This record gives sequence, C-alpha cells and structure tokens, in this order.
Amino acid sequence: MTRNPITPTIPLDRDGVHHGHLRLPYSRDDSAWGSVMIPLTVIKNGDGPTALLTGANHGDEYEGPIALQELALTTRPEDVTGRLIIVPAFNYPAFRAGTRTSPIDRVNLNRAFPGRPDGTVTEKIADYFQTTLLPLADLAVDFHSGGGTLDFVPFAAAHILDDKSTQDRCFKATEAFNAPYSVELLEIDNVGMYDTAVEAMGKTLVTTELGGGRSSTALSNAIAKRGLRNVLIHAAILRGKIETRPTVTLTMPDDDCYLFSAAEGLHEPMVDLGAEVRAGDLVARVWPADRTGIAPGEYRAQRDGVLIGRHFPGLIQMGDCIAVLGVPKD
Ligand SMILES: [Zn+2]
Repeated sequence: MTRNPITPTIPLDRDGVHHGHLRLPYSRDDSAWGSVMIPLTVIKNGDGPTALLTGANHGDEYEGPIALQELALTTRPEDVTGRLIIVPAFNYPAFRAGTRTSPIDRVNLNRAFPGRPDGTVTEKIADYFQTTLLPLADLAVDFHSGGGTLDFVPFAAAHILDDKSTQDRCFKATEAFNAPYSVELLEIDNVGMYDTAVEAMGKTLVTTELGGGRSSTALSNAIAKRGLRNVLIHAAILRGKIETRPTVTLTMPDDDCYLFSAAEGLHEPMVDLGAEVRAGDLVARVWPADRTGIAPGEYRAQRDGVLIGRHFPGLIQMGDCIAVLGVPKD
C-alpha cells in the first residue's frame, strides 16, 4: 500500500505550542524537489480530547482562516486540556489562489474524500486527513462561507444522520457554537465531502456558512471567533464560559429548500438574506442579459421559510443555486 507522502514539521503529540507546516512533496517546473507547505499549529496540554480545526477547505472563504490564525497565535498551553490541531488553510493552494478549488489539479477538496495517497495534490491532502489527522480527533470544526458565488446568513450547521448518537452530539456542539442561526443542513450532494468522512467515523462535526462573496466582515469574523471558542469550551478543551446569544434554529425538510436558475442572465434578488417568506413569494428574478423586451424568469419560494442563502454575483448561469430556504423549528 502506498504511504501518504505528507509529513508534519512539528510533533503532533508533544505538550506546548508548536507552529509549523504539513509538508507535501510537489515536484513542478519552478521547484524540482519542491513542496506544498500547509500552515499547522498544534497546542497540547496533557490528556484530553482533540479538536481538528480547519478553514479554507474552499480557498475563497475567509472567516475560518481569520478565526484560526487568531486562535493559533493567542492560545496558551495552560488554556487547553487535551489538544488543538489548527489548519487555517486546509486546501492551501486554493487559499493562496483565492479560488474554491485547487489551481494545481482543479479538485474541490470537499468532494475529494476519502482521497488517495497516490493521487493529485488535493487527493493527497484528503487522504492525510482521512488516515492520519481525523483518527486523532474527537471533534472537528470545518469553517465554510459562500465564497465567490454564494452568500449566507451566518449559521453553524450539523447534518441529519442515520447514526442518531453522532447526530445528537453534532447538534449539541452546533448549538454551543451559537451562531445567529443554527441549521439542520440537508446537502445537495454529500458524496466525497469532508463532513461525510468525519461523520462516518462517528466524530462530532460542526460546519458553518458564515457569509460569502469572497470576503468577510467584522461581524462574520466576530461570529466565527466567538463560535469557535464556545464549541471548544463545550468540548471541555478550552476553559471558560460559553457566551450565549439568541439563535434561530432552522431545518431543511427536503430539496424544496433549494431553488436553481433555469436560465442564464442578470440576477435580481427580490428579498434579502434573513427575510421571512411564504410559499409562493417571489424570491428572485433572472432577466435576459442579451436583449430587452422579454419578461424575467421568476423564482418563488416553494414553502414558508427564511432566506438563508443566495446566489452572490450579479450574473447567473443556468443551473446555479439562486436561493436557499431554511424552515424555523418551533
Ligand atoms: Zn465552502
């Protein structure tokens, strides 16, 4: 069996604060014996649970990298019981390019699991997490936002799972994260996702969508930092008190929560993120980009709910996700 070529430049199992990299050999035109160097911090203090904390699984999502940079810089060993493994830029080549997928192989890390030790750069990253880092973890927090093409109300999420004991742990941790919205998330396509790999191992997972549009805001970063701290306190890894604010709990009962554009054109949002809508309400319109005198396509809510996600750019393609609804749980 091929061994994964990634090696950490710091110990994963020693007490203290260690800053280094995951070194992935990558031979290429400008560096014959070169490497991809993925920043890594390990903070450990004695025995206790391990949290594996990742940002920039997609390279154009920024709240995670910011919150994790700060955590890596400011956490002292005495603040921790157990271990933090911090990887602010999970798909590092994509992060450096500011793109969703890796510029090296165009692979979407969040569709590459379980990965391959002898695959492309992105597949090797996936395999290393699958076979080396995830088995060490009790809890995984994987930060997402909308990136270049989507925008979201700030939410933390867990998935509805067949394994109810894992599901219950994931929802409790998501509530502890305490973003303004907490969502029972239904994925369009969960095959190959990191989330699915984590959950299949029975580990606790919190994921997020905290904003989007290929940037972050003071508010979305504050939510990321507070949520991260809260969930680590909940997991008994960080000392402190969970800071609780009101959260709206939403669920996604079926695929009707997603609306997709049936045409290309000019995207006109008709309600903004966080708006409450009733079934039949107009959520967005798509105008032709290439002519006048033609009525726009209309996109209406298929159920009562809250607009939690939307297409971000002003232009849209056929098949793009145009709107996402969540349904309040009472
Ligand atoms: Zn993402």
